[in-house]
Amino acid sequence: MKKIVYLDNAATTAVRKEVLDEMEVYFRKEYANPASKYRFASAPFAAVSEARTQVAEAIGAASMEEIYFTAGGSESDNWAIQGVCSAAGEGHIITTAFEHHALMNTCKSLEKKGFSVTFLKPSAKGYIDPKAVEDAIRPDTVIISVMYANNEIGTVQPIAEIGAIARKHRITFHTDAVQAAGHIPVDVVGMNADLLSLSAHKFYGPKGVGAMYIKKGTKISPLIFGGMQEFNKRAGTHNVSGIVGLGKALELACEEMEEERERITGLRDKLINGILNNIPHAKLNGGLEPRLPGNVNISFRFIESEAILNLLDFKGICASSGSACNSDSLEASHVLLAIGMSHEEANGTIRFSLGRYNTEEDIGFLLESLPPVVEKLRAMSPLYEDFIKSRTL
Ligand SMILES: *Cc1c(COP(=O)(O)O)cnc(C)c1O
Repeated sequence: MKKIVYLDNAATTAVRKEVLDEMEVYFRKEYANPASKYRFASAPFAAVSEARTQVAEAIGAASMEEIYFTAGGSESDNWAIQGVCSAAGEGHIITTAFEHHALMNTCKSLEKKGFSVTFLKPSAKGYIDPKAVEDAIRPDTVIISVMYANNEIGTVQPIAEIGAIARKHRITFHTDAVQAAGHIPVDVVGMNADLLSLSAHKFYGPKGVGAMYIKKGTKISPLIFGGMQEFNKRAGTHNVSGIVGLGKALELACEEMEEERERITGLRDKLINGILNNIPHAKLNGGLEPRLPGNVNISFRFIESEAILNLLDFKGICASSGSACNSDSLEASHVLLAIGMSHEEANGTIRFSLGRYNTEEDIGFLLESLPPVVEKLRAMSPLYEDFIKSRTL
């Protein structure tokens, strides 16, 4: 197979070698259950504690006992919403109309169980207005959940301002920081977060392991019942290798953050400008600032994203039409519709998400490959034909 140009780092990332090397020890050699009491279990026990410390430091938590390991971002999001609502019994949820499905569908399921939910609409540039959050607060509001960075359009939300509003009204505040952690600074104290979700495979760690920050004193019920693991709040034998990988990957990502952020933002802007300057009827979705370093989301009018992705795939280029979770459905992205795009525009949208293994050559190759692909598809597009006719009349 020819070279893969992987531009779907928002869907998942490759595990770093340094991370895999540390993980392997806990699969093969130190395989004891960290909950066991003999001395053979002390190394895995210590490794889980170290990972907890690494996560606490990376996100500015006051104590490692505020970090709980889960099976990924989806579980953390489910736990935040279901756990708080279950502890409260009834009430009102404030969230946004462009959350990840893990968050949005959890809220929809609670709506069926009698909770009421406000889905706030982002602006056309993809930002949530903190004032709108405050205006939505009711006496029975039990949780406010606003994502830190959007996984499709990359816009970074004014999370500290929203957190301050939640704190002022004494409402539990959760943020899905799955796209942000390891890429832009996360500071749970500065953003007044009570709950925060993150996931290892979005920052060069393994899939199927995540974490949740739970500020001391937050009223939240368990989601997974069973044994006493994770301070009696999340049952199940620890995924020791995964947890070790998460801690190490997050620590490395934070060490290299400033450097990588600058380099990847440079590639991002080169790609955005290269596309907008060379392909007509293309538009960047979501504001440019503040935006995740690696996110490029562009609509190409008159053509379908699935057709573009197929032709790019032939060249070894991996990108996506939105979130990976939705790639089987033909429905337009709820994120793009939430920022006011039409179905036609939304259906011609591609997300390129850049990461630490991307190079100038990758961007050059894409900028070379993309214009003929778009041109070829437009030549076959009835929509484009109608557009040209309407202009020549
Ligand atoms: C990927 C992602 C999730 C889900 O995380 P998993 O670990 O894949 O379950 C949740 N929220 C956002 C914003 C994501 O990008």
